[in-house]
Amino acid sequence: MEQTLAGRTALITGSTSGIGHGIAMQMARAGAKVMLNGFGKPEEIAAARAEVGAAMGGGDAPYSAADMSKPDEVRAMVADCEKTLGACDILVNNAGIQFVSPVEEFPDAKWDAIIAINLSSNFHAIKAALPGMRKRNWGRVVNIASAHGLVASPYKVAYVAAKHGVVGMTKVVALEVAQTPITCNAICPGFVRTPLAEAQVKPLAEKHGVSEEVALRDYLLEKQPSKRWIEVDEVASMALWLCGPGSGGVNGAALSVDGGWLAA
Ligand code: NAD
Repeated sequence: MEQTLAGRTALITGSTSGIGHGIAMQMARAGAKVMLNGFGKPEEIAAARAEVGAAMGGGDAPYSAADMSKPDEVRAMVADCEKTLGACDILVNNAGIQFVSPVEEFPDAKWDAIIAINLSSNFHAIKAALPGMRKRNWGRVVNIASAHGLVASPYKVAYVAAKHGVVGMTKVVALEVAQTPITCNAICPGFVRTPLAEAQVKPLAEKHGVSEEVALRDYLLEKQPSKRWIEVDEVASMALWLCGPGSGGVNGAALSVDGGWLAA
């Protein structure tokens, strides 16, 4: 792969699995030094560190166990990245969780957790990382929002509120850095083939009394005109492009990678 990120350092939250892991792999292959973050079984974290480390040329990738629901840990993670890798040139706010329920039954604790992890952690990480980016006069913030940052679906009140918030935050930060070589953009994926999304198929099949194949096509992907999963690498390549050469004119955008969802 072309070394478009040679000499850059990247901190990617929620990169032990799914989209974050895919972004970490593509950025490592493109020459960046990457710090991972996220939960998982010790052997899963070790495997992710080894895999991304190998893509960086050997050894384990650095890793922060910071919990994105805790502002102090988010700040410490950014400081750890700056200390370990020498800088945080690229910040990818990707960690996220989902919970599905009607508003009236939506548990308060789930609302608080989704707002903290999917929305507030982005604020705390950006606030901590921007001073270093300004000092070095270069930076990239990529927020992994969602099609649900632009349009709503029922039963996802906290997720949709958080992701709309991420898109709004992206625009504010973009305006504040607009006259510097720093950019801040959001990627808005449709349904991507990851554990978070795949876990929604079985309950839908049971609810509607249909096979998982039908539940995927007719219910989960109801709004995704392509009728297929977006692949992790299709989101990761957008994140990679936003951090590589030639992307400096794109700032404050909410870029859809959704199989046509927003076009319908
Ligand atoms: P995933 O469950 O595979 O990965 C989520 C990552 O976040 C994991 O590494 C997990 O350990 C980490 N994480 C969760 N809570 C955390 C916490 N408190 N602190 C630190 N890390 C934590 O999910 P994914 O599908 O890869 O989702 C990644 C992002 O993409 C999320 O923000 C999600 O909302 C967004 N997204 C996903 C889809 C999709 O269809 N999969 C679509 C649009 C947007």
